[in-house]
Amino acid sequence: MVLITITKKCVACNICSESCPAEILVIERVSMEGGKRPKRRLKVTDESLCYECRACEIICPYGAILIEASTRNETIYPEI
Ligand code: SF4
Ligand code: SF4
Repeated sequence: MVLITITKKCVACNICSESCPAEILVIERVSMEGGKRPKRRLKVTDESLCYECRACEIICPYGAILIEASTRNETIYPEI
């Protein structure tokens, strides 16, 4: 399965989620203690639905999301 990593560089700008054809990237609001304004955070809802298209990785202006492709399409060569 693909591994999607959202790094600390993410500013939750929502650009990648708008470009995701699988619609698995969403911005959520996280409640903060002490009456502070809720914080926005990017979240992956279901990695198993990812098309591994890398659109999010390419479009992110901050280089904040990384896609590590699965090996399911790798060719296995027989031993000679
Ligand atoms: S990963 Fe990049 S494009 Fe997506 S919300 Fe974070 S900063 Fe924006
Ligand atoms: S690789 Fe493609 S399908 Fe997967 S999260 Fe990124 S934009 Fe969405």
